[in-house]
Amino acid sequence: MRANAYNGCKGVKGSIVARILIVEDNALNIKLFCDLLAAHGHQPEAVTDSRNALDAAKQFEPDLVITDIQLPHVSGLELIRMIRKDEKLAQVPIMAVTAYSAQGDEERIRAAGAQAYVSKPISVMKFAQTVDQLLEHGCDSDPTGESQDSWANESDGGGGGGPSEAGGEEA
Ligand code: MN
Repeated sequence: MRANAYNGCKGVKGSIVARILIVEDNALNIKLFCDLLAAHGHQPEAVTDSRNALDAAKQFEPDLVITDIQLPHVSGLELIRMIRKDEKLAQVPIMAVTAYSAQGDEERIRAAGAQAYVSKPISVMKFAQTVDQLLEHGCDSDPTGESQDSWANESDGGGGGGPSEAGGEEA
């Protein structure tokens, strides 16, 4: 059995041809993502075992990484952090795909270093648009977020005291 590569994709049309690494443990999603990307002319490569994902990324040198968050072994969040720390891959844009969006998930995913976040079941339109924007603007883009206020917390405008330290009546 092929552990890593999905070879069933063939790209034909499309303007930007990009190498896109998909990290996803679900075979149906791999097929869906590969077919979508190939239909846009891209070259998708899929990894099903997240333990191999970092090495695969170093070898494949993708223009974009699409990763599931709910992965066995190495979680999507850990993988995103590893990619961000890797000298060679640090600038590669990352799009996270996840089935569960509990409160705070998006913040955690963005804080780990992903530029975009798409929830499953994916909207084909949104998936394709997000891919295009990430390829166009790279690591600087933020196609699915309204703002990046969450990283701009260093300035604590003063006045009123810190809400996190208030009270203390409850543990
Ligand atoms: Mn999964």
